[in-house]
Amino acid sequence: MQTRFPPELLADPDMASSEGVIRKCVHCGFCTATCPTYVLLGDELDSPRGRIYLMKEMLEGERQPTAEVVKHIDRCLSCLSCMTTCPSGVNYMHLVDHARAYIEDRYRRPLRERLIRWLLAKVLPHPGRFRLALQWARRFKPLEPRLRRHPALKAFAAMLALAPSVLPRKPCGIAAGPQVTKGRVILLQGCAEPVLQPDIRPSAARLVIGAGYEVILARGEGCCGALVHHMGRTAEALQAARRNIDAWMAYIDGQNIAAILITASGCGTTIKDYGFMLRGDAAYAEKAARVSALAKDISEFLDGIDLPPPVSPPGLTVAYHPACSLQHGQQITEAPKRLLAAAGFTVRTPKDAHLCCGSAGVYNILQPEIAGQLGDRKVETLERLGADVIATGNIGCATQIALKAKAPVVHIVELLDWAHGGPRPSSLTVKPD
Ligand code: SF4
Ligand code: SF4
Repeated sequence: MQTRFPPELLADPDMASSEGVIRKCVHCGFCTATCPTYVLLGDELDSPRGRIYLMKEMLEGERQPTAEVVKHIDRCLSCLSCMTTCPSGVNYMHLVDHARAYIEDRYRRPLRERLIRWLLAKVLPHPGRFRLALQWARRFKPLEPRLRRHPALKAFAAMLALAPSVLPRKPCGIAAGPQVTKGRVILLQGCAEPVLQPDIRPSAARLVIGAGYEVILARGEGCCGALVHHMGRTAEALQAARRNIDAWMAYIDGQNIAAILITASGCGTTIKDYGFMLRGDAAYAEKAARVSALAKDISEFLDGIDLPPPVSPPGLTVAYHPACSLQHGQQITEAPKRLLAAAGFTVRTPKDAHLCCGSAGVYNILQPEIAGQLGDRKVETLERLGADVIATGNIGCATQIALKAKAPVVHIVELLDWAHGGPRPSSLTVKPD
């Protein structure tokens, strides 16, 4: 795509990066067919190509974002399906991240939107606050159908719908590993995931420890920053990234760390991008690149090591839902299926597996109607497989799919851990209403 960015604008590294991305787009439109919002809404401006055009016009003219442009950028799920499809290597993720930050700096949203976004940014990344919020949300859950009828209150209704009826117990500790034989890994402790499903991290740790690694839970670590990053709150995202880099470097420098393991693929995609996000920060650029190089999704890591053979393969059929952040953001498609099959499960994948389930971070709260339609389609294709259980690698997807699915929904490490002698996943025992 031809661009006309004035040279002085290109002195800004973010503008220069976005200009490079836009120039790679050749308007072929291949990406439109795999974009969930275009498939659903059929509007060119809700396709990757249309959005690239809108972002180009806004950025190169240094224009004030209009309500119309913001609407179409807000509707983008950041699912990155377009990046998998694009034959020209357009890095849509970096472009849309820049556009969201640009909008956040220059566009004044209506008060209700500002309030919801502020609440999400201040609550979700903090496990203590999030847990407290869920306790309150449970009390008001019966009001959800009434709130949903008022357009201005739909986001609040979506929050109540997503709150589990039964609040999981607090995250439990992780047993110390054996004598180190193969190496040490850092396991990201996460923010929302351990509150919503506290069994995931211990399951991952048991598998890694069982394979001969020591698991380190780094002191001082917190949310990866993905959630605020996708809302364009760059300063908060970079602050989270720097805090985590400081926490991890204390171990990386002295202890020969083999990997930083992440059980939520949405977080993994962001941590793998820390190197890019902090490329202009002289104090952090090199450390951020090292952290990104060490970051691995749990399935990627387990697939690359010698896991002992399963001790009690349950032999169930699994409908595997590939999270967009894993299949498109990290290009990891086969590892989770290979691991499940090796653990004795029969793995099936649904039709249109490349399409997003509508979770996409906090998208299902901010865009509940589109997210609801995508969620319904996803659950229908998954349930058509007739599997005993649905498995995925991202807590956001698990929460979104569990809203409608009749089958239990688990993280793949809960199934792998079970097959390797760990406990039966709790959601296979009781499925909350
Ligand atoms: S990130 Fe997903 S929703 Fe956004 S333009 Fe690309 S394919 Fe469409
Ligand atoms: S597939 Fe790539 S090059 Fe083609 S229109 Fe989409 S983003 Fe542009």
